[in-house]
Amino acid sequence: MLEKHVRNIYDYVKWQNEWRTKTINLIASENVISNTVRKLCGSDFIHRYAEGHPGERYYQGTEYIDKIESDLRNDFKTIFRSTHADVRPISGTNANEAVFSSFIKQGDIVMVNSTPGGGHISHHLAGSVGKFTKNVIDLPLTEDGFHIDIGSARDLIRICKPCMIIFGRSLFLFPEPVRELKNICSEYRIRIVYDAAHVLGLMAGGKFQDPFEEGAFIVTASTHKTFFGTQRGVILSSMGNSEWQKVDKGAFPGSSSNHHLDTLVGLAVATQEMISFGKEYSEQVIKNAKALGRAMKSEGFRVLAEEFDFTESHQIAVNVHEHGGGRMVANLLKENDIILNMNILPGEPLRNVTNPDGIRIGVQEMTRTGMKTEEMERIAHLIKECIIQGKEVRGEVNRFREDFTGVRYSFDEMLKDLPSPNNL
Ligand SMILES: *Cc1c(COP(=O)(O)O)cnc(C)c1O
Repeated sequence: MLEKHVRNIYDYVKWQNEWRTKTINLIASENVISNTVRKLCGSDFIHRYAEGHPGERYYQGTEYIDKIESDLRNDFKTIFRSTHADVRPISGTNANEAVFSSFIKQGDIVMVNSTPGGGHISHHLAGSVGKFTKNVIDLPLTEDGFHIDIGSARDLIRICKPCMIIFGRSLFLFPEPVRELKNICSEYRIRIVYDAAHVLGLMAGGKFQDPFEEGAFIVTASTHKTFFGTQRGVILSSMGNSEWQKVDKGAFPGSSSNHHLDTLVGLAVATQEMISFGKEYSEQVIKNAKALGRAMKSEGFRVLAEEFDFTESHQIAVNVHEHGGGRMVANLLKENDIILNMNILPGEPLRNVTNPDGIRIGVQEMTRTGMKTEEMERIAHLIKECIIQGKEVRGEVNRFREDFTGVRYSFDEMLKDLPSPNNL
């Protein structure tokens, strides 16, 4: 009986593997790792602990991970031109928690992007920020809902005097006004935290925006959305050493002990891929997102932010109210092997979260499989056939994916002969 359970789990994994390589994956927070990275998963490091820093561990036997981890830390500092990098957080939320716990005290005021404005749950009362203070204020948005209203934000800052502003979003189409609000933030000694969870890979390719150059104090991120990594988090900053000590303690022991060495190894290789192919990849991602926006529009969808050419990132947002709402549309597409998520849109009341008007579409994963603007047009057409014409398109979706099975912007072709770690 128990043996049967184990076999079942094997089956589920097998089916997941088979299924998801046949689907068009448009979830904006996901991506695929290369085969080179994937082959490294499941090595002996999956068993091990390495608390502390390379060379100063609390456990023995960490010689090799020490080398991998210190090189990775240096690579992050080089790519993002920061003085410090902590690669130990095991997720973006975990990275945020390390920072929030260091700089937010009970009663402090924090300004964030609201949920309909695209803000992430970890910035909100119910999430990580809410553990440290209850005074969370939404940043004001312009009419279109995708930009912070700089004038009103300045007024609000003067009135509220927050200790921290958290930029960055989960529905993240356009750069944040870091440069525009930098002066008032330094005048009031407000720390600018830039949450780059969604756009780290675009930034690594020199796209979207450069928050440090524009005035951010600290950057947190996930490593697996537009970045090529395994699922982890990172914290970057050029703050002074004594302040960084707080973040360092916030990361360990503050919000984790061991930091999951197996995925760290994968991230080290993914970072090399990012260094080599990041520029080409991020350019294609943004081109594809804009192309999908245009194509969805001409297929008859209400794509948002048309006046700004739809997006500057890997995402677009579509209002599907007249097609039954975000939940229904996302479910129908899923039945046809097109996977994406419903999303609340700017200006919607918060009570809509369980059935919002919107869907969010991300093109980064399909771009990594080698898709270009033509394929974006094909995807828009398939979505129209499914949602507007009520056709069943699953077979066509599966056939379409057969031409895009590899992972581009990687060393996979060059390193085909590398063995899996279990065979090393
Ligand atoms: C995804 C996301 C995170 C956290 O991601 P993890 O799932 O914890 O890695 C943090 N901030 C924003 C804006 C995000 O979109």
